[in-house]
Amino acid sequence: MDMPEFPYHPDPISDNTFVQSADTCECCGWATGLIYNGPIRYTSHKQPVKKLCPLCIADGSAAATFNVTFCDELVGEEVAPGIKDVIMKRNPGFPAWRLTKWLTHCGDACRFKGPYGWRGLRELDNLELVDSLRDNHDSDFEDDEWELVSSSLHRDRGGATAMVFECRHCGQLVGYVDEL
Ligand SMILES: [Zn+2]
Ligand SMILES: [Zn+2]
Repeated sequence: MDMPEFPYHPDPISDNTFVQSADTCECCGWATGLIYNGPIRYTSHKQPVKKLCPLCIADGSAAATFNVTFCDELVGEEVAPGIKDVIMKRNPGFPAWRLTKWLTHCGDACRFKGPYGWRGLRELDNLELVDSLRDNHDSDFEDDEWELVSSSLHRDRGGATAMVFECRHCGQLVGYVDEL
């Protein structure tokens, strides 16, 4: 299977959004070799579906068949309803502890760049990104408190992770902190 193109989530294998699996997709009935490992949000009290392939997410059939979405909220600038619809229903979310936020910039949803820990953030060395992580946090931090939070971020180890996005138009990096 060729991975369908996800313009807002270009590399969903590297961040474990899709994992290798022999399971069949509950939407199309095919075993594509990859199964979705990100959030599935549903309105009924019972989870209607667990196993989905990339193709059924990309073409919107999984969202339509099971009445589910793959993201919780868009954060940042207002975007056109059509863009919000793509993020909610035709774009794979990413594994996270809490509500999955999708950041927006320049009137569009951003491209997900991946989960980052303090080491990765230091390599990116991007002040605007650090400001964005801080601004999008529920708590207001003093500088020394923020130092503590940012030095505890890990890409894979759980606890707290920076979810980083890149604007598809101006290239600015933005993000939020996901934590247990
Ligand atoms: Zn499928
Ligand atoms: Zn921008």
